[in-house]
Amino acid sequence: MQHVLVLNASYEPLNVCTVRRAHVLVFKGKAEVLEQHELPIRTATSTYARPHVIRLLNYVRVPRTVKRKISRRALFARDGWRCVYCGAGTHLTLDHVVPRSRGGDSVWENVVTSCAPCNLRKGNRLLHEVEMTMHTTPRPPSPSLFIRIAAPKIPNTWAPYLREAAAA
Ligand SMILES: [Zn+2]
Repeated sequence: MQHVLVLNASYEPLNVCTVRRAHVLVFKGKAEVLEQHELPIRTATSTYARPHVIRLLNYVRVPRTVKRKISRRALFARDGWRCVYCGAGTHLTLDHVVPRSRGGDSVWENVVTSCAPCNLRKGNRLLHEVEMTMHTTPRPPSPSLFIRIAAPKIPNTWAPYLREAAAA
């Protein structure tokens, strides 16, 4: 299945959609094609551009506070597939920095990737109680991370748009 990168009117990456969905947006005049495949879409009567990257013509307001659901895949990707405590890359688990039993919430700022041994060692305690430290500060991931997760392989044509987003 082919994926299409959808940019906001501001060129900010928004999400990923199917070629069919992208085609409908372009056909309805809601988006323009920025990058397209060499091979167009052929139907019985017409030929259309096969979009690879599209841009919405009207700006879609994306609330900064929008809660992206926490998944292990997104969490591990955010933390570089490493334990934030010791750097191990195996037996990864989800850890609440402030344990739920101590009032910690399941929010991006309070969940981290932890290897099973560190998770076990920490238990229901706070970091200073077990003299453990994190090598990163947990934050909500950027939209680009979800795009990278949604598309198994990032096509070369997408790279400049995602790079600009990361730098912004
Ligand atoms: Zn660890």
